[in-house]
Amino acid sequence: MDTDRIREAQEIIAAAQIVPDKTIDAIDPPGCGCTECITGLYRPIDQASDKELIAMILGEIPNHSGYGVADFLVQDSGLVMKPRWR
Ligand SMILES: [Zn+2]
Repeated sequence: MDTDRIREAQEIIAAAQIVPDKTIDAIDPPGCGCTECITGLYRPIDQASDKELIAMILGEIPNHSGYGVADFLVQDSGLVMKPRWR
């Protein structure tokens, strides 16, 4: 369940002292070319940094990507394993 995955991610992020990057306003679908993504206000998920993905996974920035928290795995190193973009 997503709540379990969020809790698991929160524990890893806290233990590894990873600081989420909340500078963008939302994460959009892969390859998105909307005005907000072009201006850098939003980020297409396939171009997001691991710290931006972590902010999304924690619910600190809105997720418009079409992917769920369960599609990602936060590792102890702070690296985020990503799905194959569709
Ligand atoms: Zn966009």
